[in-house]
Amino acid sequence: MIIPFGMARAIEIARDNDSKYKFGCVITDKRNHIIASAQNRPAKTHPIQARYAAKARMGHKIYLHAEIAALIACHEDPCYIYIARVWRDGTIAMAKPCPICELAIIESGIIEIYYTNQHGSITTVGVKSLNGYETNIKPIRFIWES
Ligand SMILES: [Zn+2]
Repeated sequence: MIIPFGMARAIEIARDNDSKYKFGCVITDKRNHIIASAQNRPAKTHPIQARYAAKARMGHKIYLHAEIAALIACHEDPCYIYIARVWRDGTIAMAKPCPICELAIIESGIIEIYYTNQHGSITTVGVKSLNGYETNIKPIRFIWES
């Protein structure tokens, strides 16, 4: 398959990330236009990150994750979120959202999550299935074009 545009951009953002853990996140609207993007910020705290961390009973995780940083930067109705992680050499890694970000994503109104996985492809999850604690993970294989 062709990499969704939002995911291609999220991977670029992850590759540009100078942090030890290289995440990039893109949020798009219902027409799949990019409305926000961010990297994780391991040295920056934020009250919204802290609030969802406390809600997820992981109150010590106050440093900004890419997903929450992107949601904070988002000022329009979000619909899709693309989360990418890469290793230092730029290869694709697992970027499944943590329980903190999952909560924030569910509350944001986003309907579908796409994240890179350890097989070098993209997993997509409908947020409704997260709400019901069902697993409805449909891995999508894609051909990486560098
Ligand atoms: Zn997170």
